[in-house]
Amino acid sequence: IQSGELSKMQKTSGKLFVISGPSGVGKGTIIHKLLEKNPNIKLSISATTRAPRPHETDGVDYYFISRDNFTKLIKEDKLAEWAEFSGNYYGTYYDTINNTLQNGYDLILEIEVKGAMQIKNKIPSAVLIFILPPSFDELQKRLTGRNTEKTEEIKQRLAIFEDEYAKSFEFNYKITNDNLDEATEELQKIISREKQN
Ligand code: ADP
Ligand code: 5GP
Repeated sequence: IQSGELSKMQKTSGKLFVISGPSGVGKGTIIHKLLEKNPNIKLSISATTRAPRPHETDGVDYYFISRDNFTKLIKEDKLAEWAEFSGNYYGTYYDTINNTLQNGYDLILEIEVKGAMQIKNKIPSAVLIFILPPSFDELQKRLTGRNTEKTEEIKQRLAIFEDEYAKSFEFNYKITNDNLDEATEELQKIISREKQN
């Protein structure tokens, strides 16, 4: 399916939401809470060349694939968007977007900002939401506290915050994740409002 057809399809089927924000801001946590209460919303499972963290499962959290296989996906035009982030590749399958929306479900892409900009260009009907931390200090605390990356990796992820923040002005909505319940409620309201349009 071509990207033009994708945007046409949006009018009669589920809605596409893109959620971005710096690493450690709480995107995964908020989305998890949202999905518990919204069986009609699905989360896209991306392909990545990053190694799985403990407790991550292939086919559930990501499709964990080799660099060679990722390159193949790009060449075969299987990805609606893809980007390099902190030394690894991440991408969204066209098939996931097509199948999920066609089946009447809404779909969330939890992706970084470069990928979000690609979706914005390809699928103008997508709703873009950026999650902000209450402060840089708090972001640092959360990312460190999550205990999933080594110090060097954490530094790399924090170093791009200014660039990511600059892109946040291209998004339709911004939510500050200070209080988790309030941030989730804000996201819920945005989605409900957009569904009415
Ligand atoms: P992301 O998916 O954006 O990388 P996570 O959802 O993994 O971020 O959250 C990073 C860490 O911050 C986790 O340990 C999570 O429990 C914690 N966290 C998320 N939201 C909040 C919040 N509102 N207040 C305090 N800690 C939070
Ligand atoms: P993590 O390694 O913490 O799981 O993810 C790192 C970053 O990659 C996060 O900002 C996450 O949102 C983003 N990401 C996850 N999947 C995709 C994807 O399919 N495409 C893009 N562009 N970014 C993704």
